[in-house]
Amino acid sequence: MEHTSSNFIRNIIKEDLESGKRTHVTTRFPPEPNGYLHIGHAKSIVINFDLADEFNGKTNLRFDDTNPLKEDSEYVHAIKEDVKWLGYDWDGLFFASNYFQEMYEKAVLLIKKGKAYVDDLSADEIREYRGTLTEPGKDSPYRDRSIEENLDLFERMRKGEFGNGEKVLRAKIDMSSPNINLRDPVIYRISHTTHHNTGDEWCIYPMYAFAHPLEDAIEDVTHSICTTEFEDQRPLYDWIVRECETESVPQQIEFGRLNITNAVMSKRKLKQLVDEGFVDGWDDPRMPTVSGLRRRGYTPEAIRTFVRETGVSKGSGAVDSQMLDYFVREDLKMKAPRTMGILRPLKVVITNYPEGQVEMLEAEINPENPEMGTRQIPFSREIYIEQEDFMENPPKKYFRLFPGNEVRLKHAYFIKCEDVIKDEDGNVVEIHCTYDPETKSGSGFTGRKVKGTLHWVEATQAVPAEFRLYEPLLLNEDPEEQEEDATEPAAEKTFLDQVNPNSLEVLKGFVEPNMKEVSPQDKFQFFRHGYFNVDPKETAKDNPVFNLIVSLKSSFKL
Ligand code: ATP
Ligand code: MG
Ligand code: MG
Repeated sequence: MEHTSSNFIRNIIKEDLESGKRTHVTTRFPPEPNGYLHIGHAKSIVINFDLADEFNGKTNLRFDDTNPLKEDSEYVHAIKEDVKWLGYDWDGLFFASNYFQEMYEKAVLLIKKGKAYVDDLSADEIREYRGTLTEPGKDSPYRDRSIEENLDLFERMRKGEFGNGEKVLRAKIDMSSPNINLRDPVIYRISHTTHHNTGDEWCIYPMYAFAHPLEDAIEDVTHSICTTEFEDQRPLYDWIVRECETESVPQQIEFGRLNITNAVMSKRKLKQLVDEGFVDGWDDPRMPTVSGLRRRGYTPEAIRTFVRETGVSKGSGAVDSQMLDYFVREDLKMKAPRTMGILRPLKVVITNYPEGQVEMLEAEINPENPEMGTRQIPFSREIYIEQEDFMENPPKKYFRLFPGNEVRLKHAYFIKCEDVIKDEDGNVVEIHCTYDPETKSGSGFTGRKVKGTLHWVEATQAVPAEFRLYEPLLLNEDPEEQEEDATEPAAEKTFLDQVNPNSLEVLKGFVEPNMKEVSPQDKFQFFRHGYFNVDPKETAKDNPVFNLIVSLKSSFKL
């Protein structure tokens, strides 16, 4: 695999191996199964798997399922599918919840060392006692409970003797630490909730900050790569690894999250879009989820190249979504067959073409990749063109069809507009043209030139098709901007105010007859329109649905 972009984590790993600090490399991708993966996760996947791959190491897929409230096995299934589709095979497949017993024992060890205590303060009181950036925290009145009392209370917490929130276990570190994360963080809480994996076996659950370093240590992860929000937690991560005396000592390294313009990148927000009906599921083609991008037609190759090219650094500005579009065009250019499709049909009758006659014309499948060969397309007296390719009273420089003008039909003949047929209301319903047999494509005709080349589909054999065109789901480049400004949660303006009411346009048109047999996820370049993907969910026999992946042109330059 290629690794050309900058990546400071690679340098750390290289040094660790060279200095002998490490003899092997193990990374992990640790999603919480509380939603579907998005392209930000794809970045984490690519970083973790690529680095292990480069240093002959291993990468685990670990479900970080320590919070019973939000997790579900539907998500576990979807996440596995997405990781595989992105092109990666994990070494170990693990569930953090399978480590609950070991984590419990580590908590007991901390209590025995005088490094953890059971606290009866409420969540609000704990927050109050914790202090602020400028003010040190206050000790809880329960901080000096004896080891024996703590062991007894923690065991009774585990047995279910207390209700939710009545007690917590806290690490005993330093209530006046300048790093608030070290002011006796809660490491276990009570939650009488059925867990998707462990059922009702546990009613106490470890907090993320306690669980994660232990999960890494248990799996002998060497480099635990996460995003920069966890930077301030690194001292706590190291404290837990040290005080729990784990055999393996993992190291946390943070990089800047991937954000993309006009998208939100948080499972909670994406779930809101799904639950509140703004989209038709996690895999809606407008979603920045891996499953949405797949259904839209983005390829794993394009996504991998895109996230690699964004580099690995501590910064996290939003990346222009056009950069992803650029890479999908690059990927599909050579692979996608060319074809013609009419999105907004207008009937054209070629009055001097013999009635009942159909001829087959040859068309290249991909001029950029001649090895893909040719296809046969029918031509006859009746065809469809795009409505926008005809104007009765055109402005200057309009080179398409208008009364008296001649244009080229791609792969076929020149036609000339002779007459316009309208309905009672004056709408154009049909165009009458004549064709010139001498001008047949491939015949070498040079007699005269025309400026416009139109695509078309023969009418009698055309396959009805649906086209779905997309615009960004969110109007603002940074949809979270306003939320950050909001001071009162009650008055909160949400990113939902930014939902674009015109993000989906559905058109009924026609495609070439050879498109009858398309399969879900097949990708095509429709001449003059762009790249489209066959929708895997709603394509019906003889009525394909095509999702616009990207248009042909872009001002974006790498
Ligand atoms: P979300 O807020 O979307 O739920 P998360 O970080 O809580 O994100 P996890 O399931 O915990 O989601 O993420 C699994 C891994 O993916 C973590 O290591 C996390 O740091 C990484 N990750 C999540 N979002 C991004 C992003 N936007 N860019 C890069 N990595 C990300
Ligand atoms: Mg998380
Ligand atoms: Mg999350």
